[in-house]
Amino acid sequence: MDKEIDWKNLSFGYMPTDYNVRCYFRDGKWGDIEVSQSEEVNLHIAATCLHYGQEIFEGLKAFRGKDGKVRVFRLEENAKRICESAKGILMQPLPVEKFKEMVLKVVSLNERFVPPYGSGASLYIRPLELGISAQVGVKPASEYLFLILVTPVGPYFKTGFKPTNICIMRRYDRVAPNGTGLWKVGGNYAASLTAGEHAHELGYSAVLYLDPKEKKYLDECGPANFIAIKNGVYITPASQSILPSITNKSLMQLAEDMGIKVECRHITVDELEQIDEAAAVGTAAVASPVGEIDDLDTGKKYIVSKDGQPGPIVTRLYETLRGIQLGEIEDTHGWCTVVE
Ligand SMILES: *Cc1c(COP(=O)(O)O)cnc(C)c1O
Repeated sequence: MDKEIDWKNLSFGYMPTDYNVRCYFRDGKWGDIEVSQSEEVNLHIAATCLHYGQEIFEGLKAFRGKDGKVRVFRLEENAKRICESAKGILMQPLPVEKFKEMVLKVVSLNERFVPPYGSGASLYIRPLELGISAQVGVKPASEYLFLILVTPVGPYFKTGFKPTNICIMRRYDRVAPNGTGLWKVGGNYAASLTAGEHAHELGYSAVLYLDPKEKKYLDECGPANFIAIKNGVYITPASQSILPSITNKSLMQLAEDMGIKVECRHITVDELEQIDEAAAVGTAAVASPVGEIDDLDTGKKYIVSKDGQPGPIVTRLYETLRGIQLGEIEDTHGWCTVVE
């Protein structure tokens, strides 16, 4: 190993690893999995991904467990979701089995970059698919590149598991009512940069978007799903413009296992008055507790955490999910795949 990696002080950035894996769709079929040591891709100047945003991605993690084994969390769910994203913007879906094989291969090849147990760090896995054939007319590409890179990332909560504040700003939408919000499309992120940066400038960690049609119901929380606890019930928005988070799906299952009622339904802004806990959920943080929600249009402030601490249910859900990922708690739902 070149230099010792300071696992505890890694950021959520990019660090080069040894290998990435690639697979091309050409002449109507997917080819063999290729292993690459290059950090670059060679693209045609007229590739559809460059001109018309034909690009989708995924994000998942591998963890070093208490027993030293490396576990990938909910591999199959990510495989299925990127197929849905592909179909959504007319790209070629990668077969689920091929996705799994590629992920396990790239993790195993870069095993030395999976951070040690106890560091709080993990190996972030980033699959992406690009339309690569040359075309100037607006239509789907005939050739695709599916690539998976990995990079170690540090603990999300460097200063501890603490609530942050988020805001509502009705002037911004992340996606359109019947648009691409339910798929993991790179363009959705480009469309949300202005709003996100504006929120950061004002000292908020994210924008809590409202539904883009009526601006009445809660939608996504930046690049994460929003969840809240109200009278002991787990509530999360039902919407056509939300990316179905695998973390949210997992937390809903854990909540049910704990005997907590789960409701996936419309949540109005006014209902924020009555919530006891809230969090933004996704692979990066699992659950990032929310302290306060400021509606910048009405001036109303919804104080979620009165004592500046995360609530008990969000904390318990967070700890349970982390425990399963690290092999500390029995994986009764079969969510983890051990890398051999
Ligand atoms: C990836 C993503 C999430 C979180 O999904 P997970 O599967 O939990 O990582 C939530 N919202 C958006 C917009 C996303 O892109």
